[in-house]
Amino acid sequence: MIITRPRDWERIKQNLASIGAKSVFIMGCGQCATVAHTGGEKEVLQAKAALEADGHAVTGWAVGEVTCHLGGTKLESRKHFGDIEDADAVLVLACGAGVQTVADAVSKPVFPGLESVFLGNVIRHGVFEERCQMCGDCVLDLTAGICPVTTCPKGLLNGPCGGMWDGMCEVLQDRECTHVRIQRRLADQGRAATSGVLPPKDFSTKLKPGSVNLRNKKGGDRP
Ligand code: SF4
Ligand code: SF4
Repeated sequence: MIITRPRDWERIKQNLASIGAKSVFIMGCGQCATVAHTGGEKEVLQAKAALEADGHAVTGWAVGEVTCHLGGTKLESRKHFGDIEDADAVLVLACGAGVQTVADAVSKPVFPGLESVFLGNVIRHGVFEERCQMCGDCVLDLTAGICPVTTCPKGLLNGPCGGMWDGMCEVLQDRECTHVRIQRRLADQGRAATSGVLPPKDFSTKLKPGSVNLRNKKGGDRP
């Protein structure tokens, strides 16, 4: 899921002031931002109270089911058409993808209410960790299912680096070195003998913007 954190409130106020917005509609997200406790109903109502305390009128609010889904967000926007029309701006408590979806769905100026920080694994309720940077050239087949690109702070494919000490990471000193973990798991699975030095990754596969069109039978997706 996409992990978000609250955006600096002063910056949000500056964004609204930059267009002289006095009234605001708030859109949250029922998926990742709800799980991350940044853009669910509770946080939307907190933003509403904060906006009102700052002297803004809140014309309405909604929590989209999946705010990055264009069709669903257009539908949600139509349900709240009058409230959105009455607003000078829309504040979106969702990831950057959700903000852009809302910006495509409504005609009003749209501002982000959150910062998008990483694609996160849910370790347990309220605990998220970054495990994949979506590099487009996965090496998990060779690294026993542990991503060195993401979980080694230096992104080293082959390690450990010279700073590893007693099995622990030089940078994140409370964590075991990624490459120690990889080598141990490979050994435990009897794969160590077949593991070699990983070749340089092909970062050309990570073209931006990514695009996949399952309806396009001739291909042509990026990357
Ligand atoms: S190598 Fe790491 S960053 Fe790349 S796709 Fe695999 S898990 Fe994700
Ligand atoms: S100690 Fe290991 S995980 Fe930490 S930066 Fe060096 S190679 Fe990466």
